[in-house]
Amino acid sequence: QAAFQSDLAHLLELIGTGKESLSFMKKRIRHLAQQWLRAARRLEQKLKGRQRDQKHILIHIGFLTEESGDVFSPRVLKGGPLGEMVQWADILAALFLLGHSLRVTVSLKELQSHLGVPPGRGNCPLTSPLPFDLIYTDYHGLQQMKQHMGLSFKKYRCRVRVIDTFGTEPAYNHEEYATLRGYRTNWGYWNLQPTQFMTMFPHTPDNSFMGFVSEELNQTEKQLIKSNKVSSMAVVYGKEASIWKGKEKFLAILNKYMEIHGTVYYETQRPPEVPAFVKNHGLLPQHEFQQLLRKAKLFIGFGFPYEGPAPLEAIANGCVFLQARFNPPHSSLNHEFFRGKPTSREVSSQHPYAEDFIGKPHVWTVDYNNSEEFEAAVKTIMRTQVDPYLPYEYTCEGMLERIHAYIQHQDFCTTSSPPLPPKTKSPAMQSPPSPLVLSPNATHLVWSPRASRDPQAWPPVGSLQVWVSETRHTCTETCRRHGLVCEPTFFRFLNKEEVFLQLSITCDSTEYEMNHLYPAVAENVHECYLQKEPLLFSCAGYNTKYRRLCPCRDFQQGQVALCRDCL
Ligand code: UDP
Repeated sequence: QAAFQSDLAHLLELIGTGKESLSFMKKRIRHLAQQWLRAARRLEQKLKGRQRDQKHILIHIGFLTEESGDVFSPRVLKGGPLGEMVQWADILAALFLLGHSLRVTVSLKELQSHLGVPPGRGNCPLTSPLPFDLIYTDYHGLQQMKQHMGLSFKKYRCRVRVIDTFGTEPAYNHEEYATLRGYRTNWGYWNLQPTQFMTMFPHTPDNSFMGFVSEELNQTEKQLIKSNKVSSMAVVYGKEASIWKGKEKFLAILNKYMEIHGTVYYETQRPPEVPAFVKNHGLLPQHEFQQLLRKAKLFIGFGFPYEGPAPLEAIANGCVFLQARFNPPHSSLNHEFFRGKPTSREVSSQHPYAEDFIGKPHVWTVDYNNSEEFEAAVKTIMRTQVDPYLPYEYTCEGMLERIHAYIQHQDFCTTSSPPLPPKTKSPAMQSPPSPLVLSPNATHLVWSPRASRDPQAWPPVGSLQVWVSETRHTCTETCRRHGLVCEPTFFRFLNKEEVFLQLSITCDSTEYEMNHLYPAVAENVHECYLQKEPLLFSCAGYNTKYRRLCPCRDFQQGQVALCRDCL
């Protein structure tokens, strides 16, 4: 039985020393300790009496190992990306507080010793059983484990969770399909269950949303912040000088109304990209950066970095976040940054989560090519009062709750795989009756109240609704338009011939094929397709030829990863 922890001291010891990145993470954990402990107490009360098994967990942060080049640690104090470190610190805190037994490694040697690989012997099967129920790692760590576990890697990969900032869509994960269809990337294809990849934001429901936390304020702090706001103070998003290049026009407009602050790293002199009228603080320690945000009215993004933690921190500290709309959207097809990343996601602004999940009055996404629109936004923002806001899923309690649910319910080692397609087509009468029925308003299918519910199934199937997509829409988008979220684990319930019939879709032919858009119908020719490879079930992806069958579910407000009955 896992018992909630009431002290983080032991975790700080477990993390070890010797790298700037580790010091950054420990500082963050210390700073947020009280918030974490309060949240753990609240969740403990919420889950009162619930049986929770204690797991033995290895956390191997591959990108911090010397063997993968560890390009991050030397850049921690120089404005390099900190988002990953923020997330790992929070994952460590959450797993520890939930009461699991942890081992943390940031070197190949430690990894080998924890896995039980004898020194000097790589690439052989492990001689004793793997002593961990779960392994949290990243793409670098995955590669190292594959190299050093030999055949045992295949056996144990179901225990792995991959922390993967931008996400990996099913089409890029499946080796054979990726190779055949040109979805190969630098990150490889691991044939994992796509929900074993865990992202920084809820990018695609094909992956699990891991997230991170931001500091939460109590009512008194919120009031204090509101009364101390300086309505003419703006902070620019980004720690690297390069993001200021070519932004003179916006800076000049902004400078007409506001005092502009920056946190750009420099050694001795002001970086030439940062104009003299900007008050540059240099890279600040995290808590000082938060203090700056507490005073500022506006946090402004110039298009890079993409999708980091800072905008959420700014909004949590009562700033308005102003950012550029990307038209056309940035993606792996048209932008260097996303090129080679295992996702087809179209990024519609610098921070789509802020745009879609938060929005006005906290977030303004405008066309920066239109100077008038930009200027008008700045003027309105200065006059608008906003409260500090933090979505529940980014609070400590929200993150603890989500990770608790994943650990409790996600089992990729013993879950029975979905039924395989028949070798030859079986007459419909032979298959068991579909548990899906047409909804009372006859627009979509719901789970029949009379059908049995597998008590082990998670999320519970009672939350399933089947909708048919428009030809230009992914399942992610289709579910979103119905106020729901796509749930890939439910695809197996609708990958059946009779489901087309139940939806009054005419199929002149029905084929099982490998395609990440299936099940789907090519409506004009009445051709129906079912999915032959369960690993390819995907919420992402569309093609104008098909209308897709989409499994959607409800979700908790502020906690999109969990359905209403998911806890
Ligand atoms: N940050 C910081 N000092 C600063 C500016 C930012 O410590 O002067 C922190 C900030 O609190 C955030 C983290 O850097 O948690 C990552 O920020 P960002 O959104 O820029 O993402 P990144 O590109 O670094 O991954």
